[in-house]
Amino acid sequence: MARLASIGTKVAVKGIFKGLTGRGDAAPAALAPISQSDTRRRLELLEDFEAAGIGWLWASDAQGRLIYLSKNAAEHLELPIENLIGKPLTDLFESDPDNPEDKPDRPLKFQLSTAKRINELVVRLAPLEERGATRRAWWSITALPKHDAEGEFLGYRGSAKDVTAEYQRKLEESRLAEYDSLTGLANRHRITRRLEATLAAYKAARRSCGLMMLDLDRFKQVNDTMGHPAGDELLRQVARRLEKVIGHRGEIGRLGGDEFQIILPDLDDRARLGELAQTIIQLVSQPYPIDGKRAVVGTSVGIGIAPYDGLTREDLVRSTDLALYAAKHGGRGQFRFFSADLKDEAEERRQLLEDLKGALTSDELEMHYQPVVRVADSRVVSLEALMRWDHPDRGAVPPTLFIAIAEEANLINEVGEWALRRSVRDACGWPESVGVAVNVSAVQFSNPAFVTLVTDVLAESGLRPDRLELELTESVFMGDSETTAETFRALKALGVRLALDDFGTGYSSLAYLRSAPFDRLKVDRTFVDSCTVKEDNSVKIIAAIIGLSDALGMETTVEGVEAFDQLEVVCAKGARFIQGYLFAKPMKLADVTERFRSGEFRIVPDGPDRHRPERRSVFRRIGIIHEDH
Ligand code: C2E
Ligand code: MG
Ligand code: MG
Repeated sequence: MARLASIGTKVAVKGIFKGLTGRGDAAPAALAPISQSDTRRRLELLEDFEAAGIGWLWASDAQGRLIYLSKNAAEHLELPIENLIGKPLTDLFESDPDNPEDKPDRPLKFQLSTAKRINELVVRLAPLEERGATRRAWWSITALPKHDAEGEFLGYRGSAKDVTAEYQRKLEESRLAEYDSLTGLANRHRITRRLEATLAAYKAARRSCGLMMLDLDRFKQVNDTMGHPAGDELLRQVARRLEKVIGHRGEIGRLGGDEFQIILPDLDDRARLGELAQTIIQLVSQPYPIDGKRAVVGTSVGIGIAPYDGLTREDLVRSTDLALYAAKHGGRGQFRFFSADLKDEAEERRQLLEDLKGALTSDELEMHYQPVVRVADSRVVSLEALMRWDHPDRGAVPPTLFIAIAEEANLINEVGEWALRRSVRDACGWPESVGVAVNVSAVQFSNPAFVTLVTDVLAESGLRPDRLELELTESVFMGDSETTAETFRALKALGVRLALDDFGTGYSSLAYLRSAPFDRLKVDRTFVDSCTVKEDNSVKIIAAIIGLSDALGMETTVEGVEAFDQLEVVCAKGARFIQGYLFAKPMKLADVTERFRSGEFRIVPDGPDRHRPERRSVFRRIGIIHEDH
């Protein structure tokens, strides 16, 4: 606080000259040098000093009681001087949480009782009862201990001055330097320092500290399409929601852009951290009203815990970042804790991404086609195009994995364009009555050039637009609702068909169905998987989805039918279109073409009578914490 105290010096020096010359004009004799022995004139000088308001003087006795205070100081305190004399000095001040020098382990009051030199210490005045004052004021005090000849402490002799304005300005400046002006959250600088300080203090005390890192899915899209002011507003609303969840449990910082960090001191309980992360994800994913429009973003959360995942800030942040990375590609809207194998996983994904770039140009990608069968006459009405990657070393890489990698790395537009071109081209060789369904990633859908791409592909190939069905998932509704609606309108205007894939697994908001012109709902295969289990609700859900779809004039495809008992159940509930291994697995183009050449493509179901829902093994990692390990 030394810097604070020196701020007033310039004004003070001006004042002292004014004081001296003022008096000097009236009594020219006073201009004569004041000798050290001239006590009267030295006292006068002191009075001038006090009156000029440069500073005040004070003195205390050995018990810390005030025995002298400049009259001006009492006036500043709005108290009669008699009420102040005799009061313990410490009663005048109170602890100040904003003052970095007022440390909990060594409060100012304590420093005043040590009989050591006090140097420009900024103290906050207590709102004295008699004063009834509510105005906050700060003084800077300097004092020397006075001892008698035997070295006995007699009390302090000191000066004081009001530094309220400077102090408050400094406080505001440091607030600006520490907080993000957009959201009011701690900025990168502050949160970094806080984390460093917390970890350093906790290390010795063997206390734990949770760290969460999150960023927003689809934020860029909102920013790009609705404009930066809307993006700013969204960030402000996100900050308010985060504060609502975290409350006093920790400190939230915005690192910049759409990245946030949350320090959670003394929180290492995974169950509680997980709950907290889940609440954050749910709350952040609710729609945001902005300028009478609606925007939706999602978020993923990575969680690291000190000391287990890192002792220093760098290590803990690195671990938490890996957890965030894993959360993001585990399907959006998830949270993940750090674990040691995430490092290998991240490395493997990096490698796969490199390989995927090569695969695009070297014929390792291929489209397979899975028939969708009309139950009434067993005819194949369309085929879903599913991408396959035959990796030279690893063999088949699951599309869920490489599609997610492509999405993350912004390679999905190229991959998706390749898939669309190839599927449409292939479908041109099939009968006119047979359609092709192509999966479109939400990232691809939100690309402003997507509609143009579909237009071009249709024009170049000559495929009748209604033979092309685009399969979208609910994540296309993230981002800004107007742009999404505009894309839907443009695609409908082209005459292509739209299907909502994996229905029932995401948010399944009925509001989406109200506004989006889907031609088809695809019931996710997880419902079919358990539809033959008695105590399960899946069959009721399938019935409800088919009913909903009928009511809205849409068609329904039931995915993942593998056995006859499932077929029976879903048909009883009104299913008319089926896609599943019971009819056919995804096939190579050559096989599809062959089947069409031999006439009508009908499929007789073939497979097991009964479906046994796959027994799922659940692996749980159990962490045992012993001392630091
Ligand atoms: P999806 O679009 O829901 O595709 C259906 C998935 O279910 C396919 O898995 C299909 O092989 C599988 N399936 C169909 N019937 C059955 C069945 O009876 N039993 C079982 N166990 N599975 C069945 P696949 O080919 O592994 O694709 C997985 C996901 O990867 C797709 O889910 C889709 O989201 C994505 N995907 C595949 N190809 C593409 C593509 O070209 N572009 C995009 N964006 N995503 C793609
Ligand atoms: Mg699909
Ligand atoms: Mg699906």
